[in-house]
Amino acid sequence: MSTIAVEVIYRGIFQKTLAKHITRGIVLAARKEGKVGVAFGRYGDSPERNGIPAKQFAIVAEDDDELQISMAQYEPTQVDVTIAVDDTLCKGVESWAWYGLQPVNKLLKENGTLVVTSIHNPEDLIPHIHRKEVPYNIALVKGKTSFAGLWVYKDDHTDVRILGVLPRVAPQLFSSSSIEQMIRDEWNDDLKVASAERSFEKVQIRKVKPDEGNSETPYSFTMPGWKDMEEGLVVRAVPNGGQYEGHDGGYRPGRSPYFKKFATRTMRPVIDFTTCTKCTLCWLQCPDSCFDVTPDGYYEANMEACCGCGVCEAVCPVDKCVTMVNESEFADNASQWEMWRADKESYAGWLKGKIESRPEERSHGFHHRGQYESEKVEQTD
Ligand code: SF4
Ligand code: SF4
Repeated sequence: MSTIAVEVIYRGIFQKTLAKHITRGIVLAARKEGKVGVAFGRYGDSPERNGIPAKQFAIVAEDDDELQISMAQYEPTQVDVTIAVDDTLCKGVESWAWYGLQPVNKLLKENGTLVVTSIHNPEDLIPHIHRKEVPYNIALVKGKTSFAGLWVYKDDHTDVRILGVLPRVAPQLFSSSSIEQMIRDEWNDDLKVASAERSFEKVQIRKVKPDEGNSETPYSFTMPGWKDMEEGLVVRAVPNGGQYEGHDGGYRPGRSPYFKKFATRTMRPVIDFTTCTKCTLCWLQCPDSCFDVTPDGYYEANMEACCGCGVCEAVCPVDKCVTMVNESEFADNASQWEMWRADKESYAGWLKGKIESRPEERSHGFHHRGQYESEKVEQTD
């Protein structure tokens, strides 16, 4: 059987239409070569929510019988190509319907290809990606992450640029001429065809060996067996009153031990504790109660819980005390306050490195998801 499976991992709502264009485009291009296919979203991610990683799939087969056999499963357990339309997803994928964090390359077959849109190089992204026991390829489509809002689609050619590289990384799907014909039929736009062609030529492809990447075991927990189920419908609440950190004066609110949310984030706040006035506004306004109160009365965004909305940056009254920075610039979720307390001088250097290239204006995550508009991108089209 020669069924070919492609998954698109995207940010819920913000990239839903982009993912749909890609999966639908795959099926339409395959049909140009007499194949059959189906594109669908993953049921378990409904209702889709802002930023929460979600998936759409495109399955292509030689004929209807083969397609039906492939579709007799809930979702593909192996894919030939994984497409991540936001490079911060390289850190892992935590859907609210799954349990724990899944590596972005989890479903990829041996020698399959992970296609990522990014302004970084493969060498910058590989350390974020969990190791895989078998080799695979990373294919980089250079560009800023394409985000749009609810019901809005950003027509910046990201869809056709990704479709354009598929004949290069998975020639068994379809040829370049089929994808170009599909683009002409769907959009009647020569510029889009040119973008797809250019992308085919310029995509950076690099083999990733099993000893490369993040060696950490992704966050997971044991799901209860059916014998452990309680009668009736039980929805566990966060414990009343929160939990104390265990040292004088510190306070950490109770949080779900199962749904962490940090994979939702495309930017994270970095905090300058030297200018913080302890005004409490970030702590009060954070919609997700992400701030821990430190024993010395500072407010630190807990990186296990922060979803990167940017509200804390927007409400902080002190200039550059809170700055949103793209998530790909961080290797872990370590405590900024502990880093600052351990060595204030080196924290100042670390902070400067993170924020000095940021523009003067506040980002507020809702307006500048991922990257600032002014951040430079190599022009590819
Ligand atoms: S970005 Fe700030 S306000 Fe938003 S979830 Fe994170 S800590 Fe809370
Ligand atoms: S809003 Fe800014 S100044 Fe106020 S406590 Fe938070 S970080 Fe400090």
